[in-house]
Amino acid sequence: MGDLKKMMPKKLGFGCMRLPVLNGRTEEIDDASFCKMIDTYMKQGFAYFDTAYPYHNQKSEEAVRRCLVERYRREQFFLADKMPVWLVKEPADYQKLFDTQLARCGVEYFDFYLLHAMNAERAAEAEELGGFDFVQRMKTEGRIRHIGFSFHDSAEVLEDILKKHPEMEFVQLQINYYDWESENVQSRKCYEVAEKYGVPVIVMEPVKGGTLANMTGEPARILKELDAEASYASYAIRYAASLPNVMLVLSGMSNPGQLQDNTSYMKEFVPLSDGEKAAIGKVVEELSKMPTIACTKCRYCVEGCPKKIAIPDVFEDYNMTVQFGINDMNRESYVRHTAEAGRADDCIRCGKCEGQCPQHLPIRELLVKVAETFA
Ligand code: SF4
Ligand code: SF4
Repeated sequence: MGDLKKMMPKKLGFGCMRLPVLNGRTEEIDDASFCKMIDTYMKQGFAYFDTAYPYHNQKSEEAVRRCLVERYRREQFFLADKMPVWLVKEPADYQKLFDTQLARCGVEYFDFYLLHAMNAERAAEAEELGGFDFVQRMKTEGRIRHIGFSFHDSAEVLEDILKKHPEMEFVQLQINYYDWESENVQSRKCYEVAEKYGVPVIVMEPVKGGTLANMTGEPARILKELDAEASYASYAIRYAASLPNVMLVLSGMSNPGQLQDNTSYMKEFVPLSDGEKAAIGKVVEELSKMPTIACTKCRYCVEGCPKKIAIPDVFEDYNMTVQFGINDMNRESYVRHTAEAGRADDCIRCGKCEGQCPQHLPIRELLVKVAETFA
């Protein structure tokens, strides 16, 4: 299994969940821009792409086909996709969904394939409906090269799954320096469980949905003192990549600027120095004093909302007010995010969103705060 780590030419993966879009519509992926970003990424020797069934309202996989699969030879890149286990109602659904994914991506096989967003409940369902057996069968049939799962639950649940399923070759975890000791996300504890079972880790959300790319006040000062030129995101990505059992860090890159930044320090990756680690420790201390909402913008909560509230977007607007005070910029952003969607005060408190949230955020209560802020 250690071989998986050696297989990766570089430790930065291209996450295809926040691709550039046209007209502000998540379904309308800007192919021209995505193609250019892929070319820049590939030219520098990177090779890993991570998509999933629900990304971009089910349009990410097709964009990957158009912009990557139809433009490069299959052996030039690694493609990862994920089984949307929450859509599986009976065993036969696994094959149907999987075949749809192969067709959408235009490939004969996936290099890496994950049971998506596993937690205790979903692992039990996958167990009952044959999900673990299914991915293993696809591997035997040559449709999958490596099997694993992405994970959002406690370290204890992770240990249960890895104990029962030694066939799992890797695990995808939320790891970032802010959540390393968090009791909600349990980055450190989960990482240590994976290490104990000898299962390499792919890191998702290293920049905490972009949160750690935008510093202000004391945290900004601390990092700028280290290097005035380095981006804030660079420390977050290098932090995750510096962990020895991490085989790859995914970054959901949305524009050429982010790609340029990420690839610049991941092309010839240098682990964090002791001085950099100490500075990050201080940043965490400062950040923890700021009461922002810890939303990672995964958007799992959005689809089922009867009021069509763009929950992660209005949370981000709120967080900007916490960090920078209320100003025209974040007011305008809130108006934009609620123009064709519900406002925070439209929430009817049905609670559907909270069941979907991997961060276990009390979304209903938080929306009251958002509504008050932008009243
Ligand atoms: S509780 Fe509010 S935000 Fe959540 S799904 Fe219901 S209406 Fe939407
Ligand atoms: S509120 Fe929770 S489910 Fe919704 S986008 Fe944020 S982290 Fe994801």
